[in-house]
Amino acid sequence: MLRNLDYLDEVKVCPHCKEELSCCEAPPIHVGDGLGWGSDILFICLNDGCSVFLNGWKTIEEQYGHHSSYRYMELPDSKEKNYMMVGNADAFKACVINKDELRAQNVHYQEQKRAKDALVTCVADKNLEPVLFLLLDEGAGKSTRAEAAQCLAPINNLECLDPLRNHKFKDPAMKHAVDVGIKQLLENNFKKECPYCFEVIKAQAVKCMHCKEDL
Ligand SMILES: [Zn+2]
Ligand SMILES: [Zn+2]
Repeated sequence: MLRNLDYLDEVKVCPHCKEELSCCEAPPIHVGDGLGWGSDILFICLNDGCSVFLNGWKTIEEQYGHHSSYRYMELPDSKEKNYMMVGNADAFKACVINKDELRAQNVHYQEQKRAKDALVTCVADKNLEPVLFLLLDEGAGKSTRAEAAQCLAPINNLECLDPLRNHKFKDPAMKHAVDVGIKQLLENNFKKECPYCFEVIKAQAVKCMHCKEDL
């Protein structure tokens, strides 16, 4: 899922208390109007000392006769003033978005997408990088990684062996796809892996030149 993360750079200030508004994940349906705000991000003044929040208790008690207050709120890309009802001081505080985490996730997503796009031309370009990126990224899509595994032999670069052999594949099907790709790659180069020390040796070797085992 990729959404526009421009709002992460948006700084909004409460006109009442001048504190910066907190960027919050909106609940699926807003309790107050039952329709939602039309945004999955809300900028809310969570300052417990804000006059809107402090005075709201009395106002609502007098008008509606129940125990609630207001928080000042704005939507992304909007200067419109909204006041949402909250039942207690903690409402929305657990929904504050960790901007740094989200930015980092987004960078990773962009890298994944770049690697995926590069798969189309990686064989022609003899470019191992996107293939390795996707195969070593356990979070990348299954079909994309399977596609990447099929590029190993055609790219024909033995440098893929160490990083792939040192990686612990969570998905046995992915491990198998990589094994098949590596086997083909080695065969194309008249090589094999020593079953004892896993070093790459000549396909015809009868004794491993690394561990000296008879094959
Ligand atoms: Zn405020
Ligand atoms: Zn060996």
